[in-house]
Amino acid sequence: MEIINEFKLEFLSKSSNEAFARVVAAAFVSQLDPTLEEIADIKTAVSEAVTNAVIHGYEDNRGMVKMSCVLYESAVEIVVVDDGRGIDDVEKARQPMFTSKPDLERSGMGFTIMENFMDELEIISEYGKGTTVKMFKKLGLQKK
Ligand code: ATP
Ligand code: MG
Repeated sequence: MEIINEFKLEFLSKSSNEAFARVVAAAFVSQLDPTLEEIADIKTAVSEAVTNAVIHGYEDNRGMVKMSCVLYESAVEIVVVDDGRGIDDVEKARQPMFTSKPDLERSGMGFTIMENFMDELEIISEYGKGTTVKMFKKLGLQKK
């Protein structure tokens, strides 16, 4: 697959940057002429990944969240990375309704949403080191 365009971005782990990240991703992907539904799916998935980096990865600490995006002719890959606490059991964390923060009114649906709204979801994490979330989505399937 030929790469058409690409960006890398770093921002502080603040909740206010969730909206920033999702708007940046949506604006960049717009080059591929996605449908409104595709854009909405990407925004939601980016929001969930960045929210996780901020509230679970860094918790009350400050750190940098890295987001990168690669555009292919009719697909997009978005990667969200934190150097925070990491996940000890990724398989468990991926399960619908699993949350380590039920007290914060989390529903444990973030990874499930990313999985459903994107075509592929890869989670690479090491406890104490950080988490990388890779999401891949094909675009334009409805038009063909
Ligand atoms: P919701 O997303 O519905 O608000 P949630 O964030 O708890 O709830 P998921 O997004 O599915 O649910 O994440 C499941 C669990 O995986 C989290 O509760 C947390 O323990 C862990 N987790 C997810 N992302 C990270 C991360 N970046 N760093 C550390 N732990 C994470
Ligand atoms: Mg979440």
